[in-house]
Formats: sequence, C-alpha cells, structure tokens
Amino acid sequence: MRQLNHLGYGHTDSNGGSNLELNLVYNPQGPSLPPPQQALEEDFRRHLGERYGVVFNRLLTLANMPIERFAASLKLSGELDSYRALLRENHNPAHLDQVMCRQMVSVDWRGRLFDCDFNQMLGHRSAGLVELADLLECDPQGSAIAVADHCFGCTAGDGSSCGGSLA
Ligand code: SF4
Repeated sequence: MRQLNHLGYGHTDSNGGSNLELNLVYNPQGPSLPPPQQALEEDFRRHLGERYGVVFNRLLTLANMPIERFAASLKLSGELDSYRALLRENHNPAHLDQVMCRQMVSVDWRGRLFDCDFNQMLGHRSAGLVELADLLECDPQGSAIAVADHCFGCTAGDGSSCGGSLA
C-alpha cells in the first residue's frame, strides 16, 4: 500500500493527489454482518495513517454470501443455517432499489448474461436475460431478476454491493 501511495494512489485531491483511487474492501471473517462502513473506514484511516503512514480513498464493507466455498465451510462448522437466518432476520427492504442487479448485469466468458456475479457463480439465470449479443436487439430493462435465499446477503443490515454498504 505504501508503494501504491508512492505511485500516487489513494491521495485525495485536497492532498494534492492524482485521482488514482485506492479503495479497501472489508469482509467479516466469519458468519456475521459487516460493521457500519463509515465508522470502520474512520478506524482504518486513523490506524493505517498513524501506524504505517498509509492513505486510501474509501473502505467498502461487503457481506459474505452464503454460497459456494463460504457456504461449504459454514456447513462443515454447522453454522450455515444460523447465518442464513441472520441474513433473513436483518433484511432491510430499503435496500431493494439499490442492489447491484437493479443497475448492472454480469457476463460470463461465453457471453451469457446473469443478474449479478453471485447468480453467475450459482448458474441462476432469469428468463429475461439472454446472451450478450442479444442486447443489440432487446433491452433487458425491467426483466425479472432471479432471486433466491442468498439475496438476503445484499439486503441484510446496511446492505452490500460491489460499491460497499447501501446504507
Ligand atoms: S444476490 Fe440477489 S439481490 Fe444480490 S445482486 Fe444478485 S440477484 Fe440481486
């Protein structure tokens, strides 16, 4: 990170920076919701600045999705059901308008469209999304989104997306 700072990354404009962004991403280590993004960002900024002289632009908090490898490890430790319940119990409908699948799509190496990269990993496709080339002739705007239990990972607590918290 110091080397990236040295190359100009992570300095804000008021610091005489270069518009080269350095953003950090924080995932909880276990089956818990991320802490509030802004408070955590302030803690990281203070700690990294005072201790290492490192600066960065933003810290983004992301919830862990209970799919694939993380789901497998939770299953082994007997925590999968309780983590899914935690996400469901903390569902916040206020985030529904901002979840990633409302603004973008994910494309796999064969050009197939998915609502998001999580659905891509799971092979979940909605009826409305097709191949990349088909976008030349049809507009996926308004197509149904293939939702499932893992979607609570995007809406629980402060919400989670590739841009961090939705709160
Ligand atoms: S996991 Fe569900 S809610 Fe989140 S972006 Fe994908 S489809 Fe949308």
